[in-house]
Amino acid sequence: MASVAIAGLSKRFGTTTVLAPTDLSIEDGEFVVIVGPSGCGKSTLLRLIAGLEEPSTGSIAIGGRDVTHAAPADRGLAMVFQSYALYPHLTVAENIAFPLKVAKRPGADIAARVAAVAESLDLTTLLARRPGALSGGQRQRVSIARAIVREPQVLLLDEPLSNLDAELRVRMRHEFARLHARLATTMIYVTHDQLEAMTLANRIVVMSEGRIEQVGAPLDLYAAPATLHVARAIGSPGMNLMPAMIEEADADGVTVRLPDGHAVRASVAGAAGTTVMLGVRPEHLVPDAAGPFAGPVELFERLGPLSFAHLGARGAIGTVVAQLPGDRRVTLGETLAFGIAPDRVHLFGPDGRALPRLPA
Ligand code: ADP
Ligand code: MG
Repeated sequence: MASVAIAGLSKRFGTTTVLAPTDLSIEDGEFVVIVGPSGCGKSTLLRLIAGLEEPSTGSIAIGGRDVTHAAPADRGLAMVFQSYALYPHLTVAENIAFPLKVAKRPGADIAARVAAVAESLDLTTLLARRPGALSGGQRQRVSIARAIVREPQVLLLDEPLSNLDAELRVRMRHEFARLHARLATTMIYVTHDQLEAMTLANRIVVMSEGRIEQVGAPLDLYAAPATLHVARAIGSPGMNLMPAMIEEADADGVTVRLPDGHAVRASVAGAAGTTVMLGVRPEHLVPDAAGPFAGPVELFERLGPLSFAHLGARGAIGTVVAQLPGDRRVTLGETLAFGIAPDRVHLFGPDGRALPRLPA
């Protein structure tokens, strides 16, 4: 177990900056999930920490030791990739033992470590099999076993579930949560799946276009996204976002005008005349016949405990998704209208940053 401290870390390939100078401190034993769209620099950041890429600027310390120029093998970490890359001609036991063999550990020591790790990942009955005779989830467990058998201080995982089907992803997600609880190893986990980030992370790092947008506990990012990128990245179905204009500002907040003429109050500090994006979460819309968010139901998604009504687009406003109780009956084409409490409204300024909220 170890902390990870990154300062001013950046990466250029030729003239392209793939990672802008980045600071990030990860505590000993923390489970940090880095989330963001494809191509935003997640793998580059992880590979820099692993020592698989040379940084353009900045430093990396693991457990208080500067490893910026240390070889990957001397950093006390292990990495699990999306493709498990097991040796097909070796048994599960031999695959797990491989890093210990390379490190020239004594045979008895190797046998004991392999047995212990196999036990912790439920692989004991599979030790004599070859990877070809395993399911996708079992193979992924073997690759994790191989990564942790040397007891890394930090475990790096790059989209480890991306190759698995939906059902297995959910099961493996639960296994990662259990694994972290059991091993208490510092884990840095990269994904483009916000659900994995929300459910696994102690803290989420949201990245966009080679920069960290926001770092925080999952529910803090959900409740108070600092930027439009974070608002889009966290939550499913996503936050409804629509253009608006601040018309009036007073001590309690602002009145914004939607393109269709409706007015919405927000407990936010802003100046009249500012162009904004207004954001509302589907579960914060409350039925209100005179409410500003109205339209015919174009699509109705029943999930059982709850449902989502998709209200038809009205020009620049786009489709608005509202959450309803699971037992609410709706006919397609029926017009529904919703309002929202002023303290639930998010406003993002022209620079994409959230306008400050006023205390309740
Ligand atoms: P992510 O993992 O978030 O999908 P990556 O870190 O893999 O993103 O890539 C970020 C950006 O850096 C992409 O635009 C990618 O094309 C570019 N990139 C990654 N590796 C290299 C490389 N070796 N040479 C040039 N560009 C690269
Ligand atoms: Mg990647």
